[in-house]
Amino acid sequence: MSLNTQIFIAAVIGVAFGFLLNLFPETPFFTVSLYALGIASSIFIGLLKMLLVPLIFSSIVVGVSNLEAGGQLSRVWKITLACCVTTTTLALILGLACAHIFHVGQGVDIGLFKEAMAQHQSPATLTPSSFLTNFIQNTLINPFKAFSDGNVLAVVVFALFLGLTLVHGGERFKTVRNISRQFFEIMMMLVSWVMKLAPLGICALLAKLIATEDLSILSRLAEFAVVVTGTTIFHGAVVLPLLLWIFGKMNPITFFKGTRAALITAFATSSSSATLPLSLKCAQENLGVRPQIAGFVVPFGSQLNMDGTALYEAAAALFIANLIGLELSFTQQIIVCLTAMIASLGAPGIPSAGMVTMIMVLQSVGLPAEAIAILLPIDRLLDTVRTVVNVQGDMMISVVVDRHTREMGASAET
Ligand code: ASP
Repeated sequence: MSLNTQIFIAAVIGVAFGFLLNLFPETPFFTVSLYALGIASSIFIGLLKMLLVPLIFSSIVVGVSNLEAGGQLSRVWKITLACCVTTTTLALILGLACAHIFHVGQGVDIGLFKEAMAQHQSPATLTPSSFLTNFIQNTLINPFKAFSDGNVLAVVVFALFLGLTLVHGGERFKTVRNISRQFFEIMMMLVSWVMKLAPLGICALLAKLIATEDLSILSRLAEFAVVVTGTTIFHGAVVLPLLLWIFGKMNPITFFKGTRAALITAFATSSSSATLPLSLKCAQENLGVRPQIAGFVVPFGSQLNMDGTALYEAAAALFIANLIGLELSFTQQIIVCLTAMIASLGAPGIPSAGMVTMIMVLQSVGLPAEAIAILLPIDRLLDTVRTVVNVQGDMMISVVVDRHTREMGASAET
């Protein structure tokens, strides 16, 4: 049985087992199963996180130095940025459109959430300018601190500089380039080994998620949850595949078949960062993206390109405005979109990161930050789908960039 099939079956078993556990809360069966599931999922997530920083570091150093050596870096960079901005803008438009078409939040009694909002600790004000200052201060730091703290964005920036330097130093740094390449290959071999545990890890993660979530809370916010999830799925199942087909000339079915392992892992972990080792492997081995392109575009995208998060933040801001009976003007909606774009850029690829950066989106148009307390209880569930779309976008962009730089690559290599 192929690994993809095993992962799929494991996901189905995990969901079913989670529902079963939900039927027997506070029983010894529940407690023991939850303990075992916790151990199994921690091993899988722990191994992925263990590989994350060295993998990102080596893949960007190798990717950037190969691209720069082949004279392709600036083109790859431009196409990647253009793709990120285009897909995120489309996601934001969809987010706003879904909130308008379905009037999410209108007619819902805010009184239901008064207690949660009152108990929520008022977060510090987060404006785009303070956000930018923090972003720079957290990104340009001592690389050793970044490695030990697992500060992925800072590692990406340092690796980028190092990759460039290795090429500009020419023959002198050939040994370091070779070592980096071999180190990257070692990391990828470790990823293959960890992937063998993916079915078990995914089964445990999903069972634990379903068993511990209070699914009844969903019903209070059912309309919002359905609309936002439906729109996110529309973006991932229609908009992105269409763009892939037009600009990447790839059949979406081939894409989904090749990336199934990474997409299911994103769903189960709700973390683009934890999924990165698998996304990188799927992009290179199943979609045929050249390693130097995937090695640069996928890690970069996993930190900075988050369509699902941007869509969610825009729709959620409008939901909260409707809930408290505030009509946002057209200009305010544009402000929501721009701030949601910045917020999705700054959100790290970890569970519920979008909730933290959403404070900035709410405050940008004067909505109360405490209102995120309304969405927090269901966030872990909604995060599953938006993380899938975040990860999907990164792999899709790597296909498009690869296609549009292939001819250049061929001529540079000959
Ligand atoms: N969990 C998402 C991710 O890792 C980020 C978010 O909370 O939206 O991509």
